[in-house]
Amino acid sequence: VPVIALVGRPNVGKSTLFNRLTKSRDALVAEIAGLTRDRKYGEGKVGDHPFIVIDTGGISGQEEGIDSAMAGQSFQAIQEADIVFFLVDVGAGITAGDRMIADHLRRNGKSAYLVANKIDGKNPDVVLGEFYELGMGEPLPIAAAHNRGISALIDYVMDELHEVEKVEEEETGYYYEDEEGEVEVSHEELDIKGIKIAVVGRPNVGKSTLVNRFLGEERVVVFDEAGTTRDSIYIPYERHGQEYTLIDTAGVRRRKNISEAAEKFSIIKTLQAIQDCNVCILVLDARTGIVEQDLHMLSFVLNSGRALVIAINKWDGMEADAKQRVKDEIDRRFDFLTFADMHFISALHGTGVGHLYESVDQAYESAMAKWQTNMLTTILEDAVSGHQPPIIRGRRPKLRYAHQGGSNPPRIIVHGTMVNELPEDYRRYLANTFRRVLDISGTPVRFEFRQGD
Ligand code: GDP
Repeated sequence: VPVIALVGRPNVGKSTLFNRLTKSRDALVAEIAGLTRDRKYGEGKVGDHPFIVIDTGGISGQEEGIDSAMAGQSFQAIQEADIVFFLVDVGAGITAGDRMIADHLRRNGKSAYLVANKIDGKNPDVVLGEFYELGMGEPLPIAAAHNRGISALIDYVMDELHEVEKVEEEETGYYYEDEEGEVEVSHEELDIKGIKIAVVGRPNVGKSTLVNRFLGEERVVVFDEAGTTRDSIYIPYERHGQEYTLIDTAGVRRRKNISEAAEKFSIIKTLQAIQDCNVCILVLDARTGIVEQDLHMLSFVLNSGRALVIAINKWDGMEADAKQRVKDEIDRRFDFLTFADMHFISALHGTGVGHLYESVDQAYESAMAKWQTNMLTTILEDAVSGHQPPIIRGRRPKLRYAHQGGSNPPRIIVHGTMVNELPEDYRRYLANTFRRVLDISGTPVRFEFRQGD
């Protein structure tokens, strides 16, 4: 997945553009994403093409030289990115900070685009001229706050995004490791079996410990994408006759010749693992409680629509009152999260891990289930006869049938008249009925309503 980094001075509009590109419409997600931090990651999509956006804190130019300024989050973001959007403020003109950033980008050789924000009502021919001086090519005008110029911007870089995708596909190698050593296999030979699990969480919550607990001492076959910082390893294994493939974001199993740098925690790797899995296990640390980074991770999982099981780790040796505090905190902060099972575990001692698997299996079953149209329609009819939709402007909406639009996450599409006007509580009633009758657990379900005659 191509990665776009947003850099520029503070207040040039990076966060606004970030929100436009990632379209975090979901109120819940917006609220979580609103917590500020130095580097924010989000996912965007144009047509069928997903990309990752990194927002950075901003470089003011007041720092001691470009190196110290760039040494921080922005510099890392540029390193991680395929494409950089360098934002400048049309109203402010070129500043010293802009020149420093331009200078850095030129020396760095990253593919960078100069984005001139806050064009608002101004005439591009008049106001953009001075920005050529930065030597970053043609300034691309947008007004992020008014949602102007953004699709043109993405169209402009689309070819390059495609190119990045293609190169990624071609250059990715897969490795199979057995007793004889390492052999490269093609993507087709990479044989992913069973339930794909991603174990995610911030550093030190115990992911590696949990992954080792899962895999035990048994010899595992390791599939590894070639040694970039974004590689993930796919580890097939079996437990009680069920096949699983673990996507190792924790860097537990490594090909020998992977550099140190590739081993560290990577959000991009985490995001890709979330996209690629069937069931995500989000690991939290009972000793530290829930912190902001946990909520970011959670928002990524929720955005992806993947099935989710939560593991609150390091439950061993905790005092009763400390346990109660953690439980209270979780009740309070996760009360919106109704679909995911939670388990209090000790990865170190293996306590609770069996129950974790029960939830994983069940979540997978729900996420991948296939339901016939006549079955869904019967559930819809029963729901409607149990509780009619309210009369709207003198007419009662008619709900005709329901069909499944996809899985992982499951999508249920309800067809009828005036469906766009159904009140929220009635939609929720339908959703809850489907969830209950179909016995769905561990996965979000996307309900959509289609207008028909
Ligand atoms: P990762 O960065 O998420 O992969 O975390 P690690 O698996 O490396 O664990 C970080 C630290 O927490 C290590 O010192 C582990 O031994 C410790 N740890 C992990 N799981 C548990 C647990 O269940 N109980 C306790 N007490 N410590 C744990």
